[in-house]
Amino acid sequence: MPQIRQLAAHIEALAPLAYQESYDNVGLLVGDPTTDIKGALVTLDVTEAVVDEAIAKGCNVIVAHHPVVFKGLKKLNGKTYVERTVIKAIRNDIAIYAAHTNLDNVAGGVNFKIAEKLKLTNVQILAPKTQVLSKLVTFVPINDTQRVLDALYAAGAGQIGDYKNCSFRVSGTGTFQPGENAQPVIGEIGEYHEEPENRIEVIIPTHQQGQLLTALRQAHRYDEVAYYLTPLDNQHQEVGSGAVGDLPEPLTGTAWLSYLKEHMSLNLIRYTALPDRPISRIAVCGGVGSFLLPDAIRAGADVFVTADYKYHEFFDAEERISICDIGHYESEVYTKDLICGHLAKKFTTFAVILSETDTNPVRYFI
Ligand SMILES: [Zn+2]
Repeated sequence: MPQIRQLAAHIEALAPLAYQESYDNVGLLVGDPTTDIKGALVTLDVTEAVVDEAIAKGCNVIVAHHPVVFKGLKKLNGKTYVERTVIKAIRNDIAIYAAHTNLDNVAGGVNFKIAEKLKLTNVQILAPKTQVLSKLVTFVPINDTQRVLDALYAAGAGQIGDYKNCSFRVSGTGTFQPGENAQPVIGEIGEYHEEPENRIEVIIPTHQQGQLLTALRQAHRYDEVAYYLTPLDNQHQEVGSGAVGDLPEPLTGTAWLSYLKEHMSLNLIRYTALPDRPISRIAVCGGVGSFLLPDAIRAGADVFVTADYKYHEFFDAEERISICDIGHYESEVYTKDLICGHLAKKFTTFAVILSETDTNPVRYFI
């Protein structure tokens, strides 16, 4: 029977915890990671009604996008919905797991789901993150090169955009003199040795450096493995905020608004003046997105689809781009399908259930 820690590991393979924003609080918020899973309920938000739904449906894990414990929890006396929700979950042995900004910040995450709903093509991260990649350089005897490279690739090295198994090597001469306590595989204790070696270079995700160094040491025959790790300022093309892509066909004026309304099942769109040109390039950001407006403009987007815009922020569009605010819940509700699909691909021995509770606290009177 799979345990909660295996569910967490599967989600974090898509959305590593290291990619959450500094203010966030993702991962297992309530519960014991070694609990066997009876059923998982997938929701955008965790409320008391969602915990009730989990109880009714025999689920002992709730997987949410928004962390119900976000700002910290100093008391647990049931005065707020957050406290009551957590108390109810604990009393009923229900775990709560959240994948929030770490799921926003990856290709295949929240924003790629919006892009999929809008049928965008050529979808890329809108604002790629920097300082999440490192360079690993190591030195291996010539004949060991492929074995070490294969081990590094398997542990997550060598991915650049859509290319995997990327590396560079040059041949040269390694020198060393084993000390008294060394256990040299090549060379003799106390004797200076020259060995034909390859210098191998690969790019690695910085947060995986521990597992990569373990893989390197296991694959390398030397008892002392020489390597350099260097942090890079490169952008990670698969990690960052927002997404941008192209509509299947350019649209003009209200045809675009109807398209957006229909494909995202909206009641309402708050928007700034549409550009005079045909609309084809679309930037998206689920939830609060105003911080990405400069990136959307720089990416050549005609429209920026996002949520939670404030009145004065709408002025920043300056007729260079149209801001379309579709509502926070509406922009992210398909994240439930995304998480469900991801879990269902891996786990077949327990039910993964899409929550039917409408957690949107905002009502519209039209
Ligand atoms: Zn959100």
